[in-house]
Amino acid sequence: MLKNDSINTTKPNHVPDTMTAVVIKEHGGPEVLKYESIATPVPGLGEVLLKVEATALNHLDIFVREGLKGPGVPEITLPHISGVDIVGTVEYYGKGLPGQKGEPAIGERVIINPAIGCNECRFCRRGEPSMCHDYQILGEHFWGGLAEYVVAPARNIIPVPAHIPSEVAAAAPVVYTTAWRAVMTVAQVKPSDVVLVVGASGGLGSAQVEIAAAAGATVIGIASTEEKRQKARQKGAVAVFDSNGDWEAEVMEWTNGQGVSAAFDAVGAPTIRKSLRCLEMGGKIVLSGATAGDSPDLSIREIYQRHRQILGAPMGNWEDFLQVTNLIWNGKLRPTIHKVYPFEEIAEAQRELEERKHFGKIVIKIS
Ligand SMILES: [Zn+2]
Repeated sequence: MLKNDSINTTKPNHVPDTMTAVVIKEHGGPEVLKYESIATPVPGLGEVLLKVEATALNHLDIFVREGLKGPGVPEITLPHISGVDIVGTVEYYGKGLPGQKGEPAIGERVIINPAIGCNECRFCRRGEPSMCHDYQILGEHFWGGLAEYVVAPARNIIPVPAHIPSEVAAAAPVVYTTAWRAVMTVAQVKPSDVVLVVGASGGLGSAQVEIAAAAGATVIGIASTEEKRQKARQKGAVAVFDSNGDWEAEVMEWTNGQGVSAAFDAVGAPTIRKSLRCLEMGGKIVLSGATAGDSPDLSIREIYQRHRQILGAPMGNWEDFLQVTNLIWNGKLRPTIHKVYPFEEIAEAQRELEERKHFGKIVIKIS
């Protein structure tokens, strides 16, 4: 039964037929990012068209642009528009939208949960789209938010309160949801825990520091420059060691030889063995990425003989998403925005992300 009488399902006159988008037609460096005028997408069954205000960058944007290949990495169809963390305003809904209570109004500012599942399998029914066999990400499998307009599933948008700037809201979906998943849902960090966050200055790592500290844990961070270490301390880390130094020894010394109860590592191959060695007996390591390499050199005995656990947290579920957005809306979590770039400077912004000189999120202001 469709009840869409009260919502606008025809294109308003002010929505132009064409829009400017950053279109990837071939894989490569930032130079392959081209501004093009293309047809404004039309929302279909159960979808909504948003006018994009701000889109935060993720390493995923780089992987998509470069055409990363490997296990667990889907093939990208070109041409493509990336951009996963999107804030925009509702323009109109596609026809056949099931009438849901509390559907955001036309003109309302919203963020998108970019995790899309089939909505029917047992994982989707649990609210776990990232466990769905048909799991897809808006901005990776579908055209994303580095464009003036984007189409999203209507069920995936939630309103942004007026007091939250779009740049801040754009930082929430991917890294904060994933950080919450890793720290709270998977590792179940407690106030008595001492935890290690490797890559504490990135978007994900800085969110993990903040969430673990908010949960009352003692947080040790790893970052590459004094400036980043200072910022990680401001996020709640009590000790931050140099990623270029012998941080494994420093963590063990700081914990009186005991090690940490949980480690969070999204850097990957260059750091995972050190992170594992920093774990106490029975400690957990939670992996949410492999931004610097996917195939590490590991000792199996170092894992099982010490009762250690390796856990995955690629993305959060709906509950994780709603928890973090609530906490950001009420000011208990405060995403750090490294820099806001104008839409015209997407290549510069992606270069800065790749050079890893930033702390927190890099955001593109679209309109
Ligand atoms: Zn499913």
